Amino acid sequence: MGLIVCSKHGETGFMPFVSKELSDEMLKGKRFSSSHLAQVEVVLIDEEDGEVMHTMYYLMTKDCFFRINAKSRYEIRTDDDEKNLDSIFDPVMKGGGICGECFRDCIIK
Ligand SMILES: [Zn+2]
Repeated sequence: MGLIVCSKHGETGFMPFVSKELSDEMLKGKRFSSSHLAQVEVVLIDEEDGEVMHTMYYLMTKDCFFRINAKSRYEIRTDDDEKNLDSIFDPVMKGGGICGECFRDCIIK
């Protein structure tokens, strides 16, 4: 998680994998319960030895998840896998990301 300077929270952790739509709505002050959100697990696997190198979680609304016909888990082994992933998620993830504190503020508990 990188650092950003949030106008509300100051220097804080940045969540890069929040969809553009979701982060925009959250920054406008809309709140979401976790049942409205979908999570996509993206696992980067070493092509050579099959070891998991990194796991990321993409967050978006359930509407978005169903609209783009996403699966809940992707394994990325090759460049083609990565291209495929980008072609599915770039349109909704690009330009997204939000301050971690703002994100927490927008989740209805
Ligand atoms: Zn913030």
